[in-house]
Amino acid sequence: MSKNTLIIGAGGVGNVVAFKCAMNSKTFGEITLASRTLSKCNAIAANVKAKTGVQIRTAKVDADSISELKELIAATSANIVINVALPYQDLTIMDACEEMQADYLDTANYEHPDTAKFEYKKQWARDEEFRKANIMGLLGSGFDPGVTNVFCAYAQKHYFDEIHTIDILDCNAGDHGYPFATNFNPEINLREVSAKGRYWENGKWIETEPMEIKQVWDYPEIGPKDSYLLYHEEMESLVKHIKGLKRIRFFMTFGESYLAHMKCLENVGMLGIEPIEHKGQKIIPIEFLSTLLPDPASLGPRTKGKTNIGIFAKGIKDGKERTVYIYQVSDHEKCYKEVLSQAVSYTTGVPAMIGAKLMLEGTWQGKGVFNMEQFDPDPFMEELNKQGLPWQVMEMRADKSRRVDV
Ligand code: NDP
Repeated sequence: MSKNTLIIGAGGVGNVVAFKCAMNSKTFGEITLASRTLSKCNAIAANVKAKTGVQIRTAKVDADSISELKELIAATSANIVINVALPYQDLTIMDACEEMQADYLDTANYEHPDTAKFEYKKQWARDEEFRKANIMGLLGSGFDPGVTNVFCAYAQKHYFDEIHTIDILDCNAGDHGYPFATNFNPEINLREVSAKGRYWENGKWIETEPMEIKQVWDYPEIGPKDSYLLYHEEMESLVKHIKGLKRIRFFMTFGESYLAHMKCLENVGMLGIEPIEHKGQKIIPIEFLSTLLPDPASLGPRTKGKTNIGIFAKGIKDGKERTVYIYQVSDHEKCYKEVLSQAVSYTTGVPAMIGAKLMLEGTWQGKGVFNMEQFDPDPFMEELNKQGLPWQVMEMRADKSRRVDV
């Protein structure tokens, strides 16, 4: 019986997932791209057809409505739903999948629109229902979370008896020429980076002020960059699944212009998530700001430069200390040439397709709700090399770290 695929969300990431599923159409069968705005789905479908020759279907759906989702899953006979809408829709899409017995995959963990806090609690709580419905849910199959979790599992399997510390390092050295824009959904991005920082050490979460901790890391193919400690969702599952872990942190690079704009917007209240009264109407400042900022999907043709995302792990192998750095470098212009998208959407969409491919092919299987590091990393790592995200491993000498302290 052939398998069918439903992709929800026609933004920057949805575009890449649609392209990549079409490029692997033997696995994905009949592909439907559905979103709130049908014209965006149709535009992507036309580009996919022109570049790959594969015709995908399109549909309009409000993913906040479980009944609309159920109807669409039934109409498309979807075996899997790839959720690349916004984190706000994770729970409704999971619930619709459970009722219709379709597998589920996403790239970002659930967040309520009214609370800038993301955590796996509500998604993990659906494990029992997913088991009973005989379906699989794969959470966080983007790059970070996603590939970074798989890199950790790969390091654990091949390089260490015990990993003691992990630093996840996310560098985007791309330049889109705008004074200020975000590379993925502005609202989600700004909520994430303006929140307090947090890292995990010796069994406890330690909170920091936003952007309080800065280090300079030297990124291969890019060079040294200011990198700031943020809270990031993959840490919540990795602390449960990586043996012997004593500390895990997440760093992301930001340029001075980005930070200055963000600080200014924050100071004037534009990052607020509470409704305010404006000329008799209620508006939410961050939603209004999102409307003003460039659509991330429009950054593709103008972004130049590279991304480098990886994990820097230290631990013990055969009684000796070891340090290993696993990373992936993508080029914005190369991604655009292939699928009309910049590298941030590309590096998210390709792993979403790979996770779904491994599920549909039965390479990664299970009943319930899972995080990426719970599966054998090898087939995923092989697919990364084949599908446009080749990675590298660097063994660091004990006396030499790539970090340059400031
Ligand atoms: P975009 O804002 O570009 O796209 C989101 C899409 O979802 C839009 O097409 C939007 O519709 C659609 N959508 C929003 N609400 C609904 C709804 N209620 N019903 C149906 N469709 C809806 O975001 P991105 O493509 O940049 O990001 C997509 C996801 O990927 C996000 O969850 C983001 O957090 C995640 N992400 C994960 C990363 C990772 O490495 N793990 C990295 C980057 C992003 P409309 O066009 O009408 O607005």
